[in-house]
This record gives sequence, structure tokens and C-alpha cells, in this order.
Amino acid sequence: MLTKDAILAYVVALCYYVLVDFARFRIWKPKETTKLKCDICGKSPVYGSNVSHSKRHTNRSWLGNIHPATIMVDGKMKQLNLCTRCLRNQNKAAV
Ligand SMILES: [Zn+2]
Repeated sequence: MLTKDAILAYVVALCYYVLVDFARFRIWKPKETTKLKCDICGKSPVYGSNVSHSKRHTNRSWLGNIHPATIMVDGKMKQLNLCTRCLRNQNKAAV
């Protein structure tokens, strides 16, 4: 005989395992992924696989080198997330 508490515990455990799997395989992406994109060139994470010597494939991702920066856009200071290449080009253009 299943009690209400047992059913509830089972459902909670099931939800937990589903969420863990989602996080592990990056099916569900947290809000922070928007910060991983460059606002000028659109550089964003790239997905692929690690390949071991035995040719086992596991998922992985490469993240861009993105930093928050305050730059002048049309005469106004603006907070943007920029990759280091765009940041460097901004500095070069200013000098
Ligand atoms: Zn960029």
C-alpha cells in the first residue's frame, strides 16, 4: 500500500533526477547564457565533444572570452558584454 508521503517522495526524487540530467547535458540552459554572447559580433558558446583515446564521445562546450564593458555608443555610455577581440578593437579605434 502506497501512502501519500511515499508517492510525494517518489515524485520529488523523480523531478530532482530529471533536473540533474537536464543540467548535466545542458538541455535546460540557465539565464546566464545570455551573458556568454558578444553584443557586437555575436560570438557565443560552441558545442562539440571530448573524444577519448578509445573514441568515446562526451559532450562539452567552448565558451567565448566575454566581459562586461562600458563603451561609448552614439555619444552615450552603454554597458555591453563584449568578447576580448571586440574590446581590443574598441581600444585600438579610440587611440
Ligand atoms: Zn565580439
